[in-house]
Amino acid sequence: MLCQANAANKTNSHILPRFISTGFFGAKGAQRRGFAFNGENELSLKPRTVQDSPKENYILCDECETYFSLLETASAPSLKFWQAKVASGKFKMTSIKSYLKVVEMATPDPVIMRLLVYSMFWRATVSSLEIFEGYDIDPSLTESLRCTLLKFKALNNADLQANLGSKKIILHPYSILTAESYRDETANVLAAINPGNPASLNVDKFGFILFKSEADISEQVMADFSNLKITDNQIMVVSEQLWHEVMVKRPLEMVAQQARKNSSKPQ
Ligand SMILES: [Zn+2]
Repeated sequence: MLCQANAANKTNSHILPRFISTGFFGAKGAQRRGFAFNGENELSLKPRTVQDSPKENYILCDECETYFSLLETASAPSLKFWQAKVASGKFKMTSIKSYLKVVEMATPDPVIMRLLVYSMFWRATVSSLEIFEGYDIDPSLTESLRCTLLKFKALNNADLQANLGSKKIILHPYSILTAESYRDETANVLAAINPGNPASLNVDKFGFILFKSEADISEQVMADFSNLKITDNQIMVVSEQLWHEVMVKRPLEMVAQQARKNSSKPQ
């Protein structure tokens, strides 16, 4: 579905990169388990248990899967180990407010991080899995993400580096949110709640927000700490309390509301 050329023969493609979407299942060795909610039968049935983050067959060909793996491999250490990189002085962290710090990532190349984020929103919007049902980003933005991703497509790191040097990326501002600590690391959420503008994705310890253009950013704090320019490569780090309220409690409340609404509908 990305290249629209080769047969989409890959099975079990992760829609959200596996390296950031499975932490809430708990430590390796323990019973790894999550719960799937759909806002329909929570009041009458036990939630389904799941053991992996969402994956889908036949959306990518071998080549496009390889390309996404290159983006993921290049970005994984910076997202997974940003705290260690701040501690070692590799990344710079600045306090902005009592509940907000900002980390400037020195790696990966900011265009690689941007492509990874674009790929997540694109994958979520083309997915037909239940968790992404109704998650339809503006078609012109979806097509812009697809064309941009395709433009930089490479099957090895040397070609990817060459593309970074020679091609021009279309800029859609995006933000990455995370927290320094969590009330409960196994209580985080995967959710595709808002496909609007901005669109958002909850991916375990990270939140991603995508704006169609700079003019769509209404809050100054988002304008200051999102990634607008080609060289921007920053993460907003919020307090444990704010993370819990916005990224854990709110999505669960939305499911509960939906379930109540559905259960009161006449059958
Ligand atoms: Zn392909």
